[in-house]
Amino acid sequence: MERAVLIFRQLFDAQSSTYTYLLGDSTSSEAVLIDPVFEQARRDSALIDELGLKLKWTLETHVHADHVTGAWLLKHRCGSGIALSEHGNANGADRLLKHGERIAFGKRHLEMRATPGHTAGCVTYVLDDQSMAFTGDCLLIRGCGRTDFQQGDPRRMFKAVREQIFSLPTACLIYPGHDYRGVMVTTVDEERRFNSRLGGDVSVDDFAGYMANLNLPHPKQIDVALPANLQCGRPAGGSTHDADPKWAALGFTFGGIWEIEPQALEEVAERVQIIDVRDADEFTGTLGHIRGAKLIPLGELRSRAAEIGRDSPVVTVCRSGARSAQAVVMLQKEGWRDIANLRGGMLRWRAEGGAAEGVAAEGLAAEGV
Ligand code: FE
Repeated sequence: MERAVLIFRQLFDAQSSTYTYLLGDSTSSEAVLIDPVFEQARRDSALIDELGLKLKWTLETHVHADHVTGAWLLKHRCGSGIALSEHGNANGADRLLKHGERIAFGKRHLEMRATPGHTAGCVTYVLDDQSMAFTGDCLLIRGCGRTDFQQGDPRRMFKAVREQIFSLPTACLIYPGHDYRGVMVTTVDEERRFNSRLGGDVSVDDFAGYMANLNLPHPKQIDVALPANLQCGRPAGGSTHDADPKWAALGFTFGGIWEIEPQALEEVAERVQIIDVRDADEFTGTLGHIRGAKLIPLGELRSRAAEIGRDSPVVTVCRSGARSAQAVVMLQKEGWRDIANLRGGMLRWRAEGGAAEGVAAEGLAAEGV
């Protein structure tokens, strides 16, 4: 029997320094995503697709004030349910979680523990074997979330951290909601010993006094993020496809670029500019090239970019799809928006029966065509 493996990925949003966590069960392929970010929903769904996972739930550690959740977008992309604390007071959730409740994904589960204090609806998710805990903005690495807005309360936070998090096994890994220095993980033992706000011999009064004097600025995103998160990230108007390209059926890769399948390219070939970035001898070599393709070798792309029009979409092509992916990245930097990479390049194009021109004669024989 295949051994169940826990699939785990820590993802980062640089804009808000938010960590998003993907947990999956390899046998059932079911997965959950903790604290997705709106702007990263496409990245996250691409990863979920590439790993062959089925997203069951998006889970919030709390109603965030610093970024908009990707929960609603992912519900529409992946069919996942939206779950958060019963004390989150958000509209549009599919499941309101109570302290102690389990969220299953395949044979694995997370246990929800109420850890209020940063907000009234803050929770920590603890993996079934207590090897990992996702603490949101309650316990951060050598720090904690602020307690001065959204019904924050330092005394409740102190109690929650001590009773619900520091009571976990000492080796339990703690994954926070943010880190602004790029530190990614800590342990219960480490935070008990070295968290200067909440660890060691700090008393609840010490902690409350410390938190009352932080004098933090108003969060930058709060006026946008809070109202949106109270709707679980549903945009005003509720459109899911605002930013998706419409000129062809494209797929988005976790690597961050749009790709077009050979068949989809056949359908739009007359309306797009096909830029072949291989070398000249490959262009007329064994694989030939797609009709109408313009040859601009990758090494010349930057200097010859002006030869590519800006009024119609661009598809880049090479032998296997690697160099042409690089070409997409380069042209995007130069301002091209409607641009995609031919998935699998000429190899895949030919394998799927795509027509080619300029095929070298000896190439035909060699390929057995
Ligand atoms: Fe927060």
